[in-house]
Amino acid sequence: MVISMKLHATRDEIDAVCAQIHEFGFKVHSIEGEERVVIGVVGRGDVTPALESLEGMPGVEKAVPISAPYKFVSREFKPYKSQIKLGSCEIGGDEFVMMAGPCSVESEKQIMETAYAVAEAGAKVLRGGAFKPRTSPYDFQGLEEEGLKLLKKAREATGMSVITEVMSDKDVQLVAEYADVLQIGARNMQNFALLKALGKAGRPVMLKRGLSATVKELLMSAEYIVAHGNPNVILCERGIRTFETITRNTCDITAIPALNELTHLPVVLDPSHATGKRSLVPALSRAGVAIGADGIIVEVHPCPQKAVSDGAQSLEIGQFRDMMRDLQPYIALWVKSRMTEMAVAV
Ligand code: PEP
Ligand code: MN
Repeated sequence: MVISMKLHATRDEIDAVCAQIHEFGFKVHSIEGEERVVIGVVGRGDVTPALESLEGMPGVEKAVPISAPYKFVSREFKPYKSQIKLGSCEIGGDEFVMMAGPCSVESEKQIMETAYAVAEAGAKVLRGGAFKPRTSPYDFQGLEEEGLKLLKKAREATGMSVITEVMSDKDVQLVAEYADVLQIGARNMQNFALLKALGKAGRPVMLKRGLSATVKELLMSAEYIVAHGNPNVILCERGIRTFETITRNTCDITAIPALNELTHLPVVLDPSHATGKRSLVPALSRAGVAIGADGIIVEVHPCPQKAVSDGAQSLEIGQFRDMMRDLQPYIALWVKSRMTEMAVAV
């Protein structure tokens, strides 16, 4: 449940409410806001008696139960979109965030060339995998820490923020030392040990939807991270597995507005993994902007024919530049509608 305190409720009133919450056997999960404090409460069992008692206390405006099983990521908990700082930019606000870069970090030359080019074209976040989840154990597994160092170099040279994948709870601290955003791959969406460790990572997390995960399962996984202490979670639709074979995955484009109804977390579209084909990436990106994603994460490589992973779906640098140019009118409309939404939220 959520307890909204009255404007300027006193410290003593807030403390008394927290004490009463404990008295009923529930836990205070979070206390947010300065002028108007909102207290998030967790626990098991019937909340009705606690709700009635708390609502009568001095300083309490209202107490409302959250019916969704994903409590803290739900729109019921927070009616307006969360804005999350990603190093030098912010997602969830009035800026459409473009994240771009190779599937894998391969060499200094490859990552630096890509970073300069995508930054110049307008991308704010550089992507690149140093730890790669590969279907075959014989495929390139990533440069690991060496790759993280190259990403750091590219970040220092361009001023971009960096997003990179972490595959194991054991590596969370290491990757957090180098990256601005931790990417959780589709195959790890329900790696619960990893999700719990991310609660203490001290970095925003982008959680990708699992290959056969429902929207609700994606939200439950996000809830794990938030419940373990990290409210800065971004969700990513990257296509799901269906009977269709024309594309690598099937993009569940409806998941984006559906998520926007169900959660306050920012939502990103990955048109590269969703399609597996570079020719389809610009059209799907336009759809992502139009349907209300907060950003796009796209694979770009200076020479996709030579890429060690996902070459077929990676845009060449010139194609990325063209796509950015062609997206501009769509992004302009997006900004207009986002500003209207944000004005209502104030
Ligand atoms: C990737 O971003 O390169 C990746 C492996 O993505 P996913 O986890 O969505 O397959
Ligand atoms: Mn990839």
